[in-house]
Amino acid sequence: MRAIRRFTVRPVLPPALTALGELAANLRWSWHPPTQDVFAAVDPELWEAVGHDPVRLLGEVPPERWQQLADDEGFVSWLAQARGDLEHYLTEPRWFQNAGAETPRSIAYFSPEFGITAVLPQYSGGLGILAGDHLKAASDLGVPIVGVGLLYRHGYFKQSLSREGWQQETYPVLDPDGLPISLLREADGSRATISIQLPDGPDLLARIWVASVGRVPLLMLDTDVEGNPDHYVEITDRLYGGNSEHRLRQELLLGIGGVRALRAYCRITGAPEPEVFHTNEGHAGFLGIERIRELTVDPAGPRLDLDTAIEVGRASTVFTTHTPVPAGIDRFPRELVEQYLGDAGATPGVPVERVLALGAEDYEGGDPGVFNMAVMGFRLAQRANGVSQLHGHVSRGMFNGLWPAFDEAEVPISSITNGVHAPTWVAREIFALAAAHGADPSGDDTEAFWAAVDHVSSGDMWRTKRVLRERLVHDARRRLHKSWEKRGASKAELGWIDSALDPDVLTIGFARRAASYKRLTLMLRDPERLRKLLLDPERPVQLVIAGKAHPADDGGKRLIQQIVQFADDEDVRHRIAFLPNYDIAMAQPLYPGCDVWLNNPLRPYEACGTSGMKAALNGGLNLSILDGWWDEWYDGENGWALPSVDGVDDVDKRDDLEAAALYDLLENEVTPRFYDLDHEGVPTRWVEMLRHTLKSLGPKVLATRMVRDYVRELYAPAAQNARSLNSDYRGARDLAQWKGRVKAGWPGVRIEHVEAHGIGDAVEVGSTLTVRAFVALGDLSPEDVEVQLVHGRVDADDVLVETHVAPLGLVESYDGGRHRFDGGVDLGRSGPFGYTVRAVPRNPHLSAVAELGVVTLA
Ligand SMILES: *Cc1c(COP(=O)(O)O)cnc(C)c1O
Repeated sequence: MRAIRRFTVRPVLPPALTALGELAANLRWSWHPPTQDVFAAVDPELWEAVGHDPVRLLGEVPPERWQQLADDEGFVSWLAQARGDLEHYLTEPRWFQNAGAETPRSIAYFSPEFGITAVLPQYSGGLGILAGDHLKAASDLGVPIVGVGLLYRHGYFKQSLSREGWQQETYPVLDPDGLPISLLREADGSRATISIQLPDGPDLLARIWVASVGRVPLLMLDTDVEGNPDHYVEITDRLYGGNSEHRLRQELLLGIGGVRALRAYCRITGAPEPEVFHTNEGHAGFLGIERIRELTVDPAGPRLDLDTAIEVGRASTVFTTHTPVPAGIDRFPRELVEQYLGDAGATPGVPVERVLALGAEDYEGGDPGVFNMAVMGFRLAQRANGVSQLHGHVSRGMFNGLWPAFDEAEVPISSITNGVHAPTWVAREIFALAAAHGADPSGDDTEAFWAAVDHVSSGDMWRTKRVLRERLVHDARRRLHKSWEKRGASKAELGWIDSALDPDVLTIGFARRAASYKRLTLMLRDPERLRKLLLDPERPVQLVIAGKAHPADDGGKRLIQQIVQFADDEDVRHRIAFLPNYDIAMAQPLYPGCDVWLNNPLRPYEACGTSGMKAALNGGLNLSILDGWWDEWYDGENGWALPSVDGVDDVDKRDDLEAAALYDLLENEVTPRFYDLDHEGVPTRWVEMLRHTLKSLGPKVLATRMVRDYVRELYAPAAQNARSLNSDYRGARDLAQWKGRVKAGWPGVRIEHVEAHGIGDAVEVGSTLTVRAFVALGDLSPEDVEVQLVHGRVDADDVLVETHVAPLGLVESYDGGRHRFDGGVDLGRSGPFGYTVRAVPRNPHLSAVAELGVVTLA
């Protein structure tokens, strides 16, 4: 019999134990082992059985046990201490509270997915985990962020395997009442809702769940409410499912509904309105359109003109792009956007043709039929970034078409390299090693933590790695058992699993989405050579592999099947395992248990990658293509670089070469070092490399470093610019008018004549180049422009590379809008040198020289 309706009855805790409910309601427990210990003590077996899920635990503890615990003074005082610790964490001043007055009062962080804990499965992979780590690190630093996302009834999907190794997807229902979230309610107790007008139907309604991520609230919109027709209820069914229209509706809900939810949250709780809006990838980009609606047509708003509203929005918006894979960029048919954002649509009164223009690919090579969310993201955000140095560079090339008058180097996309939240990802045994030498891992003083690495003995370090490897082996065996039972094997056939994998064998991890550029099967390029590595009698390696393919990606599923079929072979199955359903719960013991973390994407498609950072923090050595973060921080001694054959276009050939290099490294560098033991059984050269990895990468790969960078480089400047533009919107209005005037007058700007002085026939280091530029500005004034001497090295074709800019000063003005600008540069370096003169718009509210897209060259 099926129930017609389900709900979860929440437990009533005895008064002495209500603090357990408070601890469960704040997700800080998910990165705080001491709090997990308290839950485990409630009922150790049940804690395991419910998969370390406090809400489920509290729902299933038998009443007798509650009485026992309430009478147990030791437990009650331990609980009080844990609660006090949480209280302290939530209220004490942290880094941000001392970071200065220029910082924003509040930042809204929008993302389509958030990966915080396995018990709130609202993520598919790297993007979501990053968003979760961003919120957690912001909480640790006291940064006032509010997360905004959706609550998907089925999350992403659960992966299992068929007998043949083909990916199977299931979509278990998540009951919100059983999740660590609560409904946002109005003061009178009724549930807060937002609504969005959709064409051809009633208004879409959504309720708002709040997850407490330490100090950070995360708002999640959910369309499963009475009053919505079924096809609206389905909007928040699953992550990245459905057709274009479904995705568009999800993104309208996230962007437009998200702003409305945020307003409701601030109104109800009294939290400050965000001064900065950060969109994590393009999916939430419609938030910019909703803000334009608020500022232009909303009767409660300031009723600005559209161009002024755009300046207000841009100044306070940060856009992070996350993928250099063109297919990874979100694009919709133009007509669909026209339909959903027209007058009968979600932001009535905002002219739809202006909306369409914001997402138009109106540059060379663009498709006039599509609406591009990344393009809109760049146009509606004054500050944009990629997620590693290399990715920033690749993104500047990829989106150069939006600023065609500028060289790639000046495309206004910066980069902030991703980081990971150490308390979530580092095994407690590793923290304990450092703590034994006086370092406090929970504090903000990470330097002391990394310095402690020098004091830990090699023997201790190595014994700890073995503990972690062994834990992984046990977890992998448990997962193999479950997987094989699902695949239809009988218990009697599965005896081999008890000795599958070995806690003393060099363990290589490889887990990631089965996107084609990640090349899940590169290691299978020469199966015989791989087999030899696995079965080497003296120096074997073992591989633990995991990863999901998108449900619509049969290519990805075929790659998984190839791995699974290889690993199924009786000869090798004790040394290579594919573990289904890669998620946070699997990842947490996986990274610490690996000695080597392998990554072999097709360069440069891995924007950053973060799993290798998590491995490094646990003393894993990276063996990776120089892509994403590894391109930046590989230093020759903290792991290995797989050579990438960039010049070869033939993909097969490239795979052959790169796979051969992988086998070579494993055979000649990695395994000999791992098995080179001293008289105490410690591979000293390996442990030195591990120590160096912790010290060189530890401080860099942290999410706290990343969030600090965001605050200093993007959030604070955005908030300052927004404040100076918006006090009474005068600044924004002036800026909008100025931009209009400068763009209209720009065709009149000409560099008429440039004179150079100070350089004769033989120019030597130490001489000074002086230039005098005569510039016609037409209707513009000298204050509107900056005339610049651009100089630097030149290549064989006289193209300037590695350019520097020296502004020229106004010296004289003549009739007819002509002016003379002078300036110079000292020639400090020998070699080929070149220069030119250009004029660019100048305004203190611009954040980059290319912002208006116009420039005039001599
Ligand atoms: C870290 C992590 C990812 C992202 O790893 P990449 O290196 O960016 O591919 C994906 N899934 C889970 C469960 C993770 O923990």
